[in-house]
Amino acid sequence: MNTFDSALLRLKQAAKYEKIPNWFLRQLSIPERTIQLNFALKKDSGDMEIISGYRVQYNNLLGPFKGGLRFHPEVNMDEVKSLGFWMMIKNAIADIPFGGGKGGIEIDPKKLSEKELEKLTRQFTKELVPNIGPFMDVPAPDVNTNSKIMDWIENEYSRIVGKETKAVVTGKSVGNGGSKGREVATGMGGFLCLEQLIKKLGLKKPLTVAVQGFGNVGSNFARIIFKNGYNVVAVSDVKGGIYDNRKSGFNIDLVKSCKEEKGFLSGCYCIGSVCDMANKYEDGIISNEQLLELPVDILVPAALENVITKKNARNIKAKIVFEMANGPTTYEADGILDKKGIIVVPDVLANSGGVTVSYFEWLQNMNNESWSLEKVNQNLKSKMENAFEEVWEIHQDKKVNLRTAAYILALQRLSQKINLE
Ligand code: NAD
Repeated sequence: MNTFDSALLRLKQAAKYEKIPNWFLRQLSIPERTIQLNFALKKDSGDMEIISGYRVQYNNLLGPFKGGLRFHPEVNMDEVKSLGFWMMIKNAIADIPFGGGKGGIEIDPKKLSEKELEKLTRQFTKELVPNIGPFMDVPAPDVNTNSKIMDWIENEYSRIVGKETKAVVTGKSVGNGGSKGREVATGMGGFLCLEQLIKKLGLKKPLTVAVQGFGNVGSNFARIIFKNGYNVVAVSDVKGGIYDNRKSGFNIDLVKSCKEEKGFLSGCYCIGSVCDMANKYEDGIISNEQLLELPVDILVPAALENVITKKNARNIKAKIVFEMANGPTTYEADGILDKKGIIVVPDVLANSGGVTVSYFEWLQNMNNESWSLEKVNQNLKSKMENAFEEVWEIHQDKKVNLRTAAYILALQRLSQKINLE
């Protein structure tokens, strides 16, 4: 089953609990517009490379299309369609006035020079100009993209339309119209949501946590929960991970600065105030596959999709799977985790802090305002807590798992829009 088909099965499952006309379900099951762009990039060497890029404008019932832009060698239309679909569901749950969209470029940015990366971003933006804009489609960062890339997009778009247009993209640097708190917002939102869950379940800290992926989302989430009394006992990046089998947990502040310095995690075995080479602790080095099967309280996939599958779901030992990545659990794996009594907090709820603060950034740009970090975080807290509470109520009321409850909430919000038309 491909990722998109798997994503749609969740929608169908939730639709059983709501009276949804078939035509509307069909509308939500296909993207409004898919754009594929192929263009030539001149490399520093003078060689030309043909690059493919995608933008899926999935659905704009609730507002302008909104979703990140991913640079990755395995980006493809099926993946971008799924990501756009999840954005539609996520924005409805977060109750923000945006539709769903997503984009990507099939490239490994680590193999490009800074000059090539900027050229690529500007070329892609130029091609997209007729299709993006503050009221049409608003991109944001995702895997391998960051505030610098968003600044280039804003700058190129503004140059071409002849008018400074900060709100064309979110996740910009703070000096260029970005919002305070946006960079850590996905991690912060995840933490706020996790705290709600722990309260509901009556669990007591310290709880042990394993985090797969140590980029924007994984590293900020790990650092925030570490500072709030959780024992982060395992973290990983694309090259593998480290595990503290004594269970006291890593000092994530130190792990983060060590990774920034070295470029990878395997030399960053930081306990207390000391970092050491992981290879002194033979059993401290783990693969990404091993990390998923560790005996921890909370497992946090925060890298890419489809990592918990029917092949490894039976071996998951965590009591809670907290999805900070988009689409980390396949449809088949969901069923297995359910049967094992593992609580899955779905991506469309857990990682919605990023797009929520992106909405705050868009609002600030539109109104020419600059909010304090306190205001951003207060508003984020209230949005995350409301979304969690509403999903939890449906979960209790209809006796469905949290993913189905979240999709039911999204369907309720989206179908309110049919009545208005
Ligand atoms: P990122 O590029 O900053 O980091 C990705 C991390 O995953 C890196 O540490 C990388 O080494 C690791 N990784 C890559 N391939 C891996 C593999 N095969 N196995 C294990 N680790 C691997 O990306 P990000 O922005 O942190 O995004 C991570 C996930 O969170 C994605 O699913 C993304 O869609 C989702 N997400 C991001 C945001 C955001 O605001 N950036 C918001 C919501 C959801």
